[in-house]
Amino acid sequence: MSRIFIGGLPEDASRNELEKEFESFGRLRDVWVARNPPGFGFIIFEDARDAEDAVREMDGKRVCGSRIRVEFARGPATGRKGREEKCYNCNKFGHMSRDCRNPGGGNSHSHRRSRSRSHERSRDRGGERRYRD
Ligand SMILES: [Zn+2]
Repeated sequence: MSRIFIGGLPEDASRNELEKEFESFGRLRDVWVARNPPGFGFIIFEDARDAEDAVREMDGKRVCGSRIRVEFARGPATGRKGREEKCYNCNKFGHMSRDCRNPGGGNSHSHRRSRSRSHERSRDRGGERRYRD
Protein backbone atom coordinates (compact mmCIF):
# COMPACT_ATOMS: atom_id res chain seq x y z
CA MET A 1 0.00 0.00 0.00
CA SER A 2 1.35 3.37 -0.91
CA ARG A 3 0.01 6.85 -0.64
CA ILE A 4 0.66 9.65 -3.06
CA PHE A 5 0.02 13.33 -2.75
CA ILE A 6 -1.65 15.27 -5.53
CA GLY A 7 -1.16 19.00 -5.58
CA GLY A 8 -2.18 21.80 -7.91
CA LEU A 9 -5.68 20.52 -8.45
CA PRO A 10 -8.36 22.84 -9.74
CA GLU A 11 -10.86 23.90 -7.14
CA ASP A 12 -13.61 21.85 -8.62
CA ALA A 13 -11.62 18.67 -8.98
CA SER A 14 -13.67 15.76 -7.84
CA ARG A 15 -12.86 12.42 -6.42
CA ASN A 16 -14.30 10.78 -9.49
CA GLU A 17 -12.04 12.70 -11.80
CA LEU A 18 -8.98 11.71 -9.86
CA GLU A 19 -10.15 8.15 -9.81
CA LYS A 20 -10.55 8.21 -13.54
CA GLU A 21 -7.06 9.59 -14.07
CA PHE A 22 -5.33 7.23 -11.72
CA GLU A 23 -7.18 3.95 -11.84
CA SER A 24 -5.36 3.00 -15.02
CA PHE A 25 -2.18 2.57 -13.01
CA GLY A 26 -3.59 0.02 -10.65
CA ARG A 27 -6.07 -0.63 -7.94
CA LEU A 28 -6.93 2.33 -5.82
CA ARG A 29 -7.70 1.74 -2.23
CA ASP A 30 -8.76 5.22 -1.37
CA VAL A 31 -9.10 8.61 -3.00
CA TRP A 32 -9.42 11.73 -0.95
CA VAL A 33 -9.81 15.28 -2.21
CA ALA A 34 -9.41 18.27 0.03
CA ARG A 35 -12.32 20.65 0.22
CA ASN A 36 -11.29 23.34 2.58
CA PRO A 37 -8.99 24.57 1.28
CA PRO A 38 -9.23 22.77 -2.05
CA GLY A 39 -6.37 22.14 -4.40
CA PHE A 40 -4.86 18.88 -3.27
CA GLY A 41 -5.66 15.33 -2.46
CA PHE A 42 -4.33 11.92 -1.67
CA ILE A 43 -4.61 8.62 -3.40
CA ILE A 44 -3.75 5.31 -1.84
CA PHE A 45 -2.70 2.55 -4.19
CA GLU A 46 -2.90 -1.05 -3.17
CA ASP A 47 0.39 -1.75 -4.86
CA ALA A 48 3.38 0.49 -4.21
CA ARG A 49 4.69 -0.13 -7.69
CA ASP A 50 1.53 1.18 -9.24
CA ALA A 51 1.94 4.26 -7.12
CA GLU A 52 5.45 4.70 -8.43
CA ASP A 53 4.22 4.54 -11.99
CA ALA A 54 1.53 7.06 -11.23
CA VAL A 55 4.00 9.48 -9.70
CA ARG A 56 6.31 9.15 -12.66
CA GLU A 57 3.63 9.49 -15.27
CA MET A 58 1.31 12.02 -13.73
CA ASP A 59 3.63 14.54 -12.16
CA GLY A 60 3.34 17.73 -14.19
CA LYS A 61 0.43 16.44 -16.25
CA ARG A 62 -2.65 18.43 -16.98
CA VAL A 63 -5.81 17.31 -15.27
CA CYS A 64 -9.02 19.27 -15.68
CA GLY A 65 -7.02 22.15 -17.09
CA SER A 66 -4.58 22.37 -14.23
CA ARG A 67 -1.06 21.19 -14.02
CA ILE A 68 -0.89 18.79 -11.16
CA ARG A 69 1.92 17.81 -8.91
CA VAL A 70 2.21 14.20 -7.90
CA GLU A 71 4.60 12.90 -5.32
CA PHE A 72 4.87 10.31 -2.62
CA ALA A 73 3.18 11.35 0.54
CA ARG A 74 5.23 11.36 3.65
CA GLY A 75 4.12 9.59 6.72
CA PRO A 76 2.58 6.19 7.11
CA ALA A 77 -0.05 5.11 4.65
CA THR A 78 -3.05 4.39 6.74
CA GLY A 79 -6.25 3.14 5.25
CA ARG A 80 -8.29 5.46 7.34
CA LYS A 81 -10.69 7.74 5.59
CA GLY A 82 -11.37 11.25 6.58
CA ARG A 83 -8.90 13.05 8.68
CA GLU A 84 -5.74 13.11 6.63
CA GLU A 85 -4.61 16.38 7.99
CA LYS A 86 -1.14 17.34 7.03
CA CYS A 87 0.79 20.10 8.63
CA TYR A 88 2.64 22.30 6.17
CA ASN A 89 4.81 23.63 8.90
CA CYS A 90 6.44 20.45 10.09
CA ASN A 91 5.16 18.02 7.44
CA LYS A 92 3.54 15.71 9.93
CA PHE A 93 0.13 14.19 9.72
CA GLY A 94 -2.49 14.51 12.38
CA HIS A 95 -2.77 18.24 12.71
CA MET A 96 -3.00 21.30 10.53
CA SER A 97 -0.32 23.93 10.33
CA ARG A 98 -2.49 26.37 12.23
CA ASP A 99 -2.48 23.95 15.13
CA CYS A 100 1.18 23.28 14.84
CA ARG A 101 3.24 23.43 17.97
CA ASN A 102 6.54 23.03 16.29
CA PRO A 103 8.36 26.34 16.26
CA GLY A 104 10.41 27.73 13.45
CA GLY A 105 8.07 27.01 10.60
CA GLY A 106 6.89 28.67 7.46
CA ASN A 107 5.14 31.95 7.79
CA SER A 108 6.46 33.48 10.95
CA HIS A 109 9.31 35.84 10.47
CA SER A 110 11.21 34.74 13.49
CA HIS A 111 14.88 34.33 13.03
CA ARG A 112 15.97 30.81 13.35
CA ARG A 113 19.29 30.49 14.96
CA SER A 114 21.18 27.58 13.65
CA ARG A 115 23.06 26.12 16.46
CA SER A 116 26.04 24.13 15.45
CA ARG A 117 24.62 20.94 16.82
CA SER A 118 26.25 18.62 14.39
CA HIS A 119 29.66 19.75 15.41
CA GLU A 120 29.17 18.91 19.04
CA ARG A 121 27.38 15.71 18.18
CA SER A 122 30.38 14.21 16.55
CA ARG A 123 32.34 14.60 19.73
CA ASP A 124 29.78 12.85 21.89
CA ARG A 125 30.74 9.54 20.58
CA GLY A 126 34.06 9.07 22.24
CA GLY A 127 32.69 10.42 25.44
CA GLU A 128 35.66 12.65 25.92
CA ARG A 129 33.57 15.41 27.38
CA ARG A 130 31.64 13.94 30.23
CA TYR A 131 30.24 16.11 32.88
CA ARG A 132 29.87 14.65 36.29
CA ASP A 133 28.15 16.14 39.21
ZN1 LIG B 1 3.05 20.73 12.60
